Amino acid sequence: ASLLADTTTTATCGYCATGCGLRLHIRDGEAVGLTPETDYPVNLGMACPKGWEALRVLDSDERATAPMIRDTNGDFVKVSWDEAFRRFCEGFKQIQAEHGNESVAFVSTGQIPSEEMTFLGALAKFGMNLLHGDGNTRQCMATAVTAYKESFGFDAPPYTYDDFEQSDCLVFVGSNPCIGHPIMWERVLRNKNNPDIIVLDPRRTETAMAASEHVQLRPKYDLQLLYAITNELIKQGYVDEAFVNAHTKGFEELRNHVANFPIDDVAPQAGVDSVQLRRVVEKIGRGKAVSLWWTMGVNQSYEGTRTAQAMINIALMTGNIGRPGTGANSITGQCNAMGSRLWSNTTNLLGHRSFTNDDHRREVAEILDIDIDRIPNQNSLAYDQILDGIRAGKIRGLWVIATNPAHSWIDQKGARELLDQLDFLVVQDMYDSADTVKHADLVLPAAGWGEKEGTFINSERRYGLLKKVCKAPGEALADFQIFRGIAHYWGVGEMFAEWTDPEAVFRIMQRLSAGRPCDVSGIDGYEQIDACGGIQWPWSSEDNNGFEPEQQRRLFGDGVFFYEDGKARLIVDAITPVPEPPCDDYPFWLLTGRGTVSQWHTQTRTNKSPVLRQLYPNEAYIEINPANAASMNVSNGDPLVIRSRRGKATATAFVTPTVASGQVFMPMHYTETNHLTLSHFDPYSRQPSYKDCAVSIEPA
Ligand code: SF4
Repeated sequence: ASLLADTTTTATCGYCATGCGLRLHIRDGEAVGLTPETDYPVNLGMACPKGWEALRVLDSDERATAPMIRDTNGDFVKVSWDEAFRRFCEGFKQIQAEHGNESVAFVSTGQIPSEEMTFLGALAKFGMNLLHGDGNTRQCMATAVTAYKESFGFDAPPYTYDDFEQSDCLVFVGSNPCIGHPIMWERVLRNKNNPDIIVLDPRRTETAMAASEHVQLRPKYDLQLLYAITNELIKQGYVDEAFVNAHTKGFEELRNHVANFPIDDVAPQAGVDSVQLRRVVEKIGRGKAVSLWWTMGVNQSYEGTRTAQAMINIALMTGNIGRPGTGANSITGQCNAMGSRLWSNTTNLLGHRSFTNDDHRREVAEILDIDIDRIPNQNSLAYDQILDGIRAGKIRGLWVIATNPAHSWIDQKGARELLDQLDFLVVQDMYDSADTVKHADLVLPAAGWGEKEGTFINSERRYGLLKKVCKAPGEALADFQIFRGIAHYWGVGEMFAEWTDPEAVFRIMQRLSAGRPCDVSGIDGYEQIDACGGIQWPWSSEDNNGFEPEQQRRLFGDGVFFYEDGKARLIVDAITPVPEPPCDDYPFWLLTGRGTVSQWHTQTRTNKSPVLRQLYPNEAYIEINPANAASMNVSNGDPLVIRSRRGKATATAFVTPTVASGQVFMPMHYTETNHLTLSHFDPYSRQPSYKDCAVSIEPA
């Protein structure tokens, strides 16, 4: 009876960018349980296991409960916040004094609310004079950002979740929503149009099994295949010429370029039946409402930007944008990856502005009432370049907030060595068991989801509210409070006098957004976001006069894009050779990705739930095709040694035809996986290409 709630409230989930609404049942001011929110427009009464277990992971012995400093013996010693803030400032200021401001950098996250990101970015760059900062969104969304920016003139995913239900043809490329975004997949299952579902994926994923067409292409042939599909669509006359002429630029270049990719040449190279490919072209061409969706199979590729743009080209060229059920749609990863895109002050200046544009700097300086010289006029180094800076001895201090590079970075061994090379590493995290904490000199214990307030922005551009329904353990503080403390001890507290609480920062963000494509100046405040079940951007003061905020809103219904001439760009490029194809010594392709609906990324949070742990093997496994397993006399559960040019891992065999012969798959949730991956990047987005390297396999 003591668990009976006396009230409920709704908050947005803090794992993935679906942004489900969770109803929190509260007793005496503390959450005692949760159920999925039935009225929230995103999830319509559903949640995945991670959401159901969101409260459980807060209650763990592994929570960081006090600031800790590493002593001269290498052991952590608990200290007061006063001591921790002083050490933070002394450590970084000393490095800056000896090696310049650029010698300290920060790495942030897509997991904290937008208000905290804005505070962190402003504090780091305008308060502490750091030039270089990036986020773990470089590992998930950078490619989509670059692709949209170049194609549309702004990073603007055009869709709304209703589009899953309104398409008559859905094309998923490198995307497995059954596992990665299960609630979005539920929306597909509710589609009453009996839609064609086309999946391009080397692996027979759960989504591929449910598709009407699984195009099981060889790894890294997606760009060629999309160009071949584009060429055939043009040849078959499936171009919306009126739309192309009125709203796009670059069609002639596109037509000429894709003519080099005849379907009958590309299909056999990609290991695909050309008859099936022609069927796919027909389905896309004849579809009345075609939507194209991509996730990490595209983003985490050395050709990711151009592959995403090949999908954008198809949507634009066939007039499948701005209408219900259409769009070239990036499904975002982390709960606030889009908040990071707009508000982290890393790649872009606040409000998705440019550091190299003096007008933009002036606008921000005026709104924040700071000297324009406090705003850097150069872009930050990207994540991999920050690590290169550490290797070169130019970056000597690093502040890591709510991310876990010692597990998640590509070529993990190299990343760990670089973390150990730093003069001063500060890690701010919920758990002191996180892999990166092991390398830290100073640990700042942070509150997590449910223990603080703010907003997340989901995949369909919806601001949703995060609420404080639990007390953080021990002395852990909300990241927001940690930033306030640092500002004070650093001596720039005055600059942030107005930044008193998350909603005050939200109002600053609204001012920063006014007149931008991501304008949210029309939102009345947190109360309205709460009452409306979240609000999608843009939501300007003008919108407030014309629409009900409950409406699902997609972009580009008027065919006007964000370039000055209003036209979208059709962009093509040459094919890049595969950096590390399989060879005699390393004969298998290693594919990586999400392995389960029950674990999140590096498992830092989700492995604290006994329920979630039971839904997934705790030890690393590797999927291997039955033919390959038989040739090595390997059975299910046998231990295998996997080697790449970077390192070695062990994992148990999962013999399954979901991977083709010559390919293996390891989930990213295990630390072992990034012992093997190859450190290479998309040249435009600098996103790591996690899904293609060569490995050898033998029984252990
Ligand atoms: Fe919804 Fe994603 Fe949370 Fe699962 S993890 S409940 S799909 S927001």
